[in-house]
Amino acid sequence: MYSVTNPATGELVEEIPNSTDEEVRAAIDRVHGGFAAWRARPVAERAAIVLRAAELFAERADELAAIMTLEMGKRINEGRGEVGVVVDIFRYYGERGPELLADEPLPIRGGEAVLTKEPIGALLGVMPWNFPAYQVARFVAPNLVLGNTILLKHASICPRSAMAIESVLRDAGVPPDAYVNVFASSRQVPWMLADPRLVGVSLTGSEQAGISVAAEAGRNLKKCVLELGGSDPLIVLDTDDLDETVKITATARMRNCGQSCNAPKRMIVLGELYDEFVDRLAKRVAEYYVPGDPADPATTLPPLASIAAAEEVAGQVSTAVREGAKLRAGGRRVPGPGAYLEATVLTDVAPGMAAYHEEIFGPVVLVFRAETEDEAVALANDTPFGLGASVFGTDRERALRVARRIEAGMVYLNKSGGSEADLPFGGIKRSGIGRELGALGIEEFMNKKPIRL
Ligand code: NDP
Repeated sequence: MYSVTNPATGELVEEIPNSTDEEVRAAIDRVHGGFAAWRARPVAERAAIVLRAAELFAERADELAAIMTLEMGKRINEGRGEVGVVVDIFRYYGERGPELLADEPLPIRGGEAVLTKEPIGALLGVMPWNFPAYQVARFVAPNLVLGNTILLKHASICPRSAMAIESVLRDAGVPPDAYVNVFASSRQVPWMLADPRLVGVSLTGSEQAGISVAAEAGRNLKKCVLELGGSDPLIVLDTDDLDETVKITATARMRNCGQSCNAPKRMIVLGELYDEFVDRLAKRVAEYYVPGDPADPATTLPPLASIAAAEEVAGQVSTAVREGAKLRAGGRRVPGPGAYLEATVLTDVAPGMAAYHEEIFGPVVLVFRAETEDEAVALANDTPFGLGASVFGTDRERALRVARRIEAGMVYLNKSGGSEADLPFGGIKRSGIGRELGALGIEEFMNKKPIRL
């Protein structure tokens, strides 16, 4: 069942039954059948449609943001901001796509060859609820320009976002057999992946979902791209403005109520700064983040996406405290029907404790103390994940040296997270496989086909 439940109030707003197996098979048939015509369109036409989609997303930003606020509790301004990034992604691929897909001369020793760049067919996208529009955009914009067709299974808590996105694409001119939304359940995904008419899959979500989809993709010899969880470190080497550093790090962690795969989740602060950093961070978190209605632009702390998510994160916090962590701010569920959890700061989390090794997908900051640069790097890398990382410091060369030693898919200097259309995004280790965005993002489901001349 797909359902809309307002996480700010707990009110069930709408239920939508899952697509039947027959409906899912018909949807697969459509995107498979639509591939030949879509890939045959000149790339300039596909790019123009993607550019038109960018315009429509911009026009409908308020409507989309309001849907996200209702479905998963995103602060209304953050929703508008998310749609802004979506617009930029569609613009980027609409504008740059034709150039990224142009043939490339391929110098070879024995003569001449050219590298051509072709689509591979109909793809499945399995997408999460945390950024209902942005996650879809990263997969859909490059692949539509490339000429692949798409079947999209969105998260079961955001069917209205799924429908609104499909409407934008349809109104922009994407043919009804080049992009199809389906209300499939995750139980239908394995046999969907076994269907030879789908040739690849991209999933953003949890490690468990990633394992399941990668296993089915492997069994069926299909390409998969996975964007999974993270426990990104943020190292503070030194600072000439501690308040500003504290503010930037708190803002980055609390964005989207802490439900971002690439939020900095573990702050690693060098010895002499540590005590002051923790005091100021705890104060900032306790005073600034006040639970409120996500539809009110003045709200600083919205609910999590669901009651289940809030319970789970609250459980992780109490386990950490039971295992010896110190609670420096927050830590409790907010009384009432909504999915609220106080913004929380934990210190003294040590190896062997669950919180040291797990991802915490909510408004919870962990702060660690490191005495040296080497210790900070070792702590940063001591995680099963490897999505992003940040290094803060006044000496650029030193920060860069530390950045190079971090095991992650991407590192930011003196800034944290965020996402830019032309900057590749993705992880290593248990954070995923493949890259999205930028020039690399359009290559994942591409047949890079040399023609020997
Ligand atoms: P899920 O991974 O369960 O959901 C993401 C998407 O995957 C949804 O469309 C979901 O469908 C689908 N899905 C779930 N299980 C399977 C499966 N076995 N086979 C195929 N598709 C599947 O995320 P949750 O909503 O449960 O969130 C739990 C955790 O996931 C978070 O705490 C966080 O760690 C991580 N997460 C990471 C995200 C990221 O940005 N990297 C985004 C969201 C979650 P359905 O909704 O129908 O179950």
